[in-house]
Amino acid sequence: MTDPVLIAGGGIGGLSLALTLHQIGVEARVIEAAREMKPLGVGVNLQPNAVRELYDMGLGADVLGAVGLPAREWALVGLNGREVYAEPRGTLAGYRWPQYAVHRGAFHMALYEAARERLGADAITLGARVAGYAQDAGGVTAQVSHADGSRSELRGALLVAADGIHSGVRAQMHPDDPGVQWGGAIMWRGTVRAKPLRTGASFVGLGTHRHRMVIYPISEPDAEGRALINWIAEVTVDPSHGWQQEGWFRPVEIAEFIHHFDAFRYDWLDVPEMLAQADCAYENPMIDREPLPTWVEGRVALMGDAAHAMYPTGSNGASQAIVDARTIGAAMLAHGVTPEALAAYDAKLCAPVSQLQTRNRGAGPFGLLNLLDERCGGVFEDIDTVIPPEERAAFMAGYKAAAGFAMEALNAAPPTIPPGARLA
Ligand SMILES: Cc1cc2nc3c(=O)[nH]c(=O)nc-3n(C[C@H](O)[C@H](O)[C@H](O)COP(=O)(O)OP(=O)(O)OC[C@H]3O[C@@H](n4cnc5c(N)ncnc54)[C@H](O)[C@@H]3O)c2cc1C
Repeated sequence: MTDPVLIAGGGIGGLSLALTLHQIGVEARVIEAAREMKPLGVGVNLQPNAVRELYDMGLGADVLGAVGLPAREWALVGLNGREVYAEPRGTLAGYRWPQYAVHRGAFHMALYEAARERLGADAITLGARVAGYAQDAGGVTAQVSHADGSRSELRGALLVAADGIHSGVRAQMHPDDPGVQWGGAIMWRGTVRAKPLRTGASFVGLGTHRHRMVIYPISEPDAEGRALINWIAEVTVDPSHGWQQEGWFRPVEIAEFIHHFDAFRYDWLDVPEMLAQADCAYENPMIDREPLPTWVEGRVALMGDAAHAMYPTGSNGASQAIVDARTIGAAMLAHGVTPEALAAYDAKLCAPVSQLQTRNRGAGPFGLLNLLDERCGGVFEDIDTVIPPEERAAFMAGYKAAAGFAMEALNAAPPTIPPGARLA
């Protein structure tokens, strides 16, 4: 019997890989640090390239519709409340697959349920942290520390680290890597039950690159017309004094930050009023990691945030983790459960995704708001005289091609994993 593929981390990337390997007949074992899976997080976007993969994994519109809704529009609005740019999203834009805006925790739980059901509960060990690895010609040994204080070793054919932005496997693979990077942006995130804006399923980016709100619904409206709305309030400060907090969840009071948005009042939206009714608020520094020259060392690979944590400006962190998983699966179909498969995955994705990481630092698609800020301080009468329509369209097209969800290319691409394909 061959050893399983070990997966460090049962987040969005790790569970997508477990489901992919099960689909192609490769045994997988997930080692997850959390003692209990809980629906943590707020909103996250799944781009059409990732939704296509989820559909191919058997997680269709019924599953995704239960944890979110198809996005219809992406819109940027200036500080004066006027539209700068808007475009349809998902199938309305001509993609063969929708874009979904989902609750991260509910989506994660749906992946977890599917993985438990298909791989069996024994394939996922909770309360277990991969603390290090050693490899030889025949396989890889993961050192595991358990929540009860005990330690054990697990033998695998390969180890894929999907252990998130603070990845320990990454630290062992790249000891000189400088760690998380913070560029000065602070985000406060939360949800509120409110009437959705514009189309009812619009992503709205409002303000400037350094001072903005992002608002989008992550559920269909209820009988009263109110949906669960994800909001992100963001300001950028001088990063030179450093950042003390780590991790995703520092619960905060709205009063700590609402004053930054006092002026965000329009006839179609009152931001302070919306924030005052929020269900919850968490403070996050906007952090990422430096791009790496390689994600692979022999039998060990990094994927998801462990490989390429990036600023959320392009809404593609979760989508890229899913695409990584599928690319690893496709590489195994071509090369078997071998180091060559990991090398092929690395060769395909590391360089282009590293470029995307760097590009997201430069504001991603929100760069249009930067341009607006530079040219008129965010206040304008006629947007066409400030940024002509062709310039706006060209800016967005360039970004989308880089993010891998350029429509024609995606629509025409064959499935990453052909239906029914299994490793002999
Ligand atoms: C609790 C939480 C809440 C989040 N909330 C949001 C959100 O609201 N919006 C958003 O856009 N993004 C959020 N993210 C980030 C988002 O999930 C990722 O950016 C993206 O989905 C990439 O997924 P990933 O699988 O690479 O990483 P993650 O989804 O972060 O998963 C990493 C997993 O690895 C586990 N882990 C860590 N270290 C070890 C170890 N040594 N051994 C074993 N397991 C380990 C973690 O417990 C986690 O389950 C959140 C992440 C987490 C962990």
